[in-house]
Amino acid sequence: MVVGERTLLDLDDTYAREVPALSVPWPAVTAPAPRLLVLNDELAAELGADPAALRADVSLLVGAGAGTRALVYAGHQWGVYKPRLGDGRALLLGEVVDSHGRLRDLHLKGTGATPFARGYDGRAAVGPMLREYLLGETMHALGIPTTRALAVVATGETIERDRPLPGAVLCRVAASHLRVGTFQYAAASEPGALRALADHAIARHFPDAADADRPYLELFRRVVDAQAALVARWMLVGFVHGVMSTDNTTISGETIDYGPCAFMDAVDPGTVFSSLDKTGRYAYGAQPAILQWNLARFGESLRPLDDVEDVLEEFPAAYERYWAEGMAAKLGLSTPDVALSTDLMALLHAQRVDFTTFFRALAAGTARDLFLDREAFDAWAARREALLPADRTGVAAAMDRVNPLYIPRNHVTDAALEAAEQGDLAPFHRLLGAVGDPFVARPGLEDLTRPAPAGAVPHVTYCGT
Ligand code: AMP
Ligand code: MG
Repeated sequence: MVVGERTLLDLDDTYAREVPALSVPWPAVTAPAPRLLVLNDELAAELGADPAALRADVSLLVGAGAGTRALVYAGHQWGVYKPRLGDGRALLLGEVVDSHGRLRDLHLKGTGATPFARGYDGRAAVGPMLREYLLGETMHALGIPTTRALAVVATGETIERDRPLPGAVLCRVAASHLRVGTFQYAAASEPGALRALADHAIARHFPDAADADRPYLELFRRVVDAQAALVARWMLVGFVHGVMSTDNTTISGETIDYGPCAFMDAVDPGTVFSSLDKTGRYAYGAQPAILQWNLARFGESLRPLDDVEDVLEEFPAAYERYWAEGMAAKLGLSTPDVALSTDLMALLHAQRVDFTTFFRALAAGTARDLFLDREAFDAWAARREALLPADRTGVAAAMDRVNPLYIPRNHVTDAALEAAEQGDLAPFHRLLGAVGDPFVARPGLEDLTRPAPAGAVPHVTYCGT
């Protein structure tokens, strides 16, 4: 697209053309004093954009003068169906073919109230947008499918939350913004657009499914598989998404919408961080089941096209297979062992062991020290030992390649974001550098590997992000 006199990115609009009923043209509000806070140079280059040009003129990154569109979708939030959610504070800037030939969405968050804002202000604050940047880069570095941030720009506006906060716009990149909630909306409110939406999703994410005997059944199967793999990856790093509403479940299988998410410290399936999650609906241990529930809603929305329901029965086995394979790698085993892995989680829970610390310590041979009941650990460790190869060369190194040392610890992240809000981005960049290369120990970063000190206030995330 042309902004001012320069071409920064060649943007397409296949979604608007192929499924016009599911978005509306809508302009971004003017940012009074846009100032670039962070730019993802590597991602910019992957998209074919010149980072220097983006730095020199941030107007593209706040949507100024662009042909932006607000996307509409529905969703089950906290189990309650909302027939029309949509992008209340976000806009699709356009699509771009990246250097790997993949079509990616550029999307802006915090660009003002849209027709779907439902009375909210359409704004976003610096802290939560930097948080989304950090968490997306963390997941990317862990090899977990995710949207990624291209940039965060401070708008120069002060926004009202529980206190006045600096406003920001996040520019994020996604394989697409197709959500289960998009299909729910089409099925309920734009039935004439459902087939075009499904065809667009197939062409974009699972092109070979178009040749299947039953393409929409195949679409469902692929999404079920991609999401089973995704939630298994979350569980394997202790990630708690926090708001697994159907509008936050993608068709691409990417993690999206980093709000009240966080990494679990001491193992506890009941771990929740969101102040809103009183019942544990989206707790760590509830994630696979809630995802299956969300996929059932996806299946229902596809029913006008094909009778897809049976496929969902494949979810539990697919999830367990992905999880057990991942656990085997984490434990240095060549073959998955569900019982050994499940028993370990129960043991870590009973002993309140820090999830991330445990796997690095296991590779280093120091895990026993983490347990109060060392005999219980010894009994489990003996079972694992029996499954290890006679020649252990390379086992610890292989484990360290899949078990992160650096994750965005909650107390560290909060401190970094607080400093950033005050104008000091150094702690943010230090943390970003650590989690961007999470497996290789580097001197000087030891403080980032420790869980919050005992007795610290538990981490709570609030809405109004
Ligand atoms: P989220 O919890 O961020 O996934 O958002 C859920 C829905 O609320 C989406 O439709 C958002 O676009 C909308 N939303 C969240 N915050 C705001 C805001 N400040 N202004 C307008 N809409 C918002
Ligand atoms: Mg959302």
